[in-house]
Amino acid sequence: MTKPAILTVDDEPEVLNAIERDLRRHFAAEYRILKAGSGAQALEAVRELKQRNAAVALFLVDARMPQMSGTEFLVQARMLYPDARRVLLTAYADSDVAIAGINLVQLDHYLMKPWDPPAEKLYPVLDDLLSDWSASFRPPFEGIRVAGSLWSPQSHEVKDFLSRSQIPYQWMDVERDAAARAQAEAVSPGLRHLPVVFFPDGTSLVEPGTRALAEKLGLQTTAARPFYDLLIVGGGPTGLAAAVYGGSEGLRTVLCERETTGGQAGTSAAIENYLGFPSGLSGADLARRATAQARRFGAEVLIAREVMTIRADGPYRIATLDDGTELRSYAILLAPGMEVRRLEVPGIEPLTGAGVFYGAALTEAGACRGKDVLIVGGANSAGQAALSFARYARKVTMLVRGPALAEGMSQYLVDRVTDAANIEVLSGAEVMGVHGADRLEAVDIACGEARTVRTLDAAAMFIFIGSTPRSDMAAGLVERDPAGFILTGPDLRRDGRLPRAWPLERDPFLLETSFPGIFAAGDVRLGSAKRVAAAVGEGSAVVGMVHKYLESV
Ligand SMILES: Cc1cc2nc3c(=O)[nH]c(=O)nc-3n(C[C@H](O)[C@H](O)[C@H](O)COP(=O)(O)OP(=O)(O)OC[C@H]3O[C@@H](n4cnc5c(N)ncnc54)[C@H](O)[C@@H]3O)c2cc1C
Repeated sequence: MTKPAILTVDDEPEVLNAIERDLRRHFAAEYRILKAGSGAQALEAVRELKQRNAAVALFLVDARMPQMSGTEFLVQARMLYPDARRVLLTAYADSDVAIAGINLVQLDHYLMKPWDPPAEKLYPVLDDLLSDWSASFRPPFEGIRVAGSLWSPQSHEVKDFLSRSQIPYQWMDVERDAAARAQAEAVSPGLRHLPVVFFPDGTSLVEPGTRALAEKLGLQTTAARPFYDLLIVGGGPTGLAAAVYGGSEGLRTVLCERETTGGQAGTSAAIENYLGFPSGLSGADLARRATAQARRFGAEVLIAREVMTIRADGPYRIATLDDGTELRSYAILLAPGMEVRRLEVPGIEPLTGAGVFYGAALTEAGACRGKDVLIVGGANSAGQAALSFARYARKVTMLVRGPALAEGMSQYLVDRVTDAANIEVLSGAEVMGVHGADRLEAVDIACGEARTVRTLDAAAMFIFIGSTPRSDMAAGLVERDPAGFILTGPDLRRDGRLPRAWPLERDPFLLETSFPGIFAAGDVRLGSAKRVAAAVGEGSAVVGMVHKYLESV
């Protein structure tokens, strides 16, 4: 860990050098000694230290400097480092300065020049102040820090991206923490754009998109080769399994993921029915391990890159990405899974991300501590979320449209939800509208046969009302059912016949679509099991079919 700093400021170079020399002699083993020749220079140094989240133990500042007095400097520095000890240095007893210092910045000490001999006049005073400071000093967090306002959609997006990528960060609430506010304001004037993400190298990004964030974090966002054997759309369990097997079996493989890897499974706090993990594993853990494994086998995993369309040109299958770049390969696997269905009720749009969340949004669990939380939905994912949030929330209310939980939920989850003391299940309940000035405050629900509407106070509402397949990037190219699920293999036969556009003698492979060389697997495929193990199975099985296909191109 970097040593805490002592910053000394004086406009007279000789005095500045002398005090720096004396400070070094006595304190250099435990503190970094920094100096500045003016208040303005010192403020710049202080801001930079704060950006790096470095600790400052003490300011030792000349009282009378031409542009900015010592007290004026301390007023500003204190906003960023409220706990650092503050000492003014003066050439003569100047009671006005001392009184102003005490009133304005709660000065800790007032030191007269010259301080010779330092062993008598300087070190004892500073030793005392520094021992006081270190008694309550907590070493600062050395990783990424996110400064924003709780319940803001942009802050939620950044936190969600970081936590799903398993990148540790410290949250700084600008509404509650004056130092966080001052620090964010220094890079985002008037806090018009939030969050601000501070990196350990001292740089920051204001309201970054996921791609900018991914690039700054050194995650791969652009393809390294001009051409691949297998291009995978989607980094959920299906796409990751295909990347592991594609890479390990020698295919030049690239995977494009629009957010971060993990897919729907990545939002699950505990997957308990995946083979080999008797006490469950978190979706984020599964994604992290699988991503590392795919990369180890040489597959490229591009993060924060969305495939917008796919097309074919002779033997080539081509994906166009969000910035218009094209990636070429012999075969494409469509593994884009499903996206959550949106709840359409009055007032919901502006509060989405500000108290209203789709999916489990585990990043918000801490913010729900001691609060009332609503879960909308009655299937397994809603049950898992209810149990997760019940650990933090005062009360969790599940709003289930059907007559009972058991209809859409595995029995083991029904039992746990029923046993949980702070979970209430309201069946036959429907959300009618949501309210809140700038974050969710209350929700109108209709209950019972009379559909009487009542209003429940809630700090957060998590919605799990099903999903729809994300297959639009292949619309017009491959056959889909009316809901958007992609047809593969034997499902393509109607009345015993293959689609007229199918150009080959052979039948489509089991996971091949109506377009040769374009495969589909996992949740997006018609008739798939909608389970992690099934997705992983299909993702790995498809690689054998791709190999067979490649023999013919
Ligand atoms: C909250 C929750 C809990 C669950 N718990 C369990 C459980 O305990 N056990 C179990 O067996 N199953 C569980 N499931 C189901 C399981 O997660 C899914 O069946 C599985 O994730 C499907 O994997 P997939 O890769 O096919 O699709 P997804 O997981 O949906 O992944 C698809 C990926 O593709 C990306 N993508 C989409 N479009 C594009 C594009 N155009 N360009 C680039 N990338 C794109 C998405 O961002 C996503 O990351 C759960 C699901 C949810 C939502």
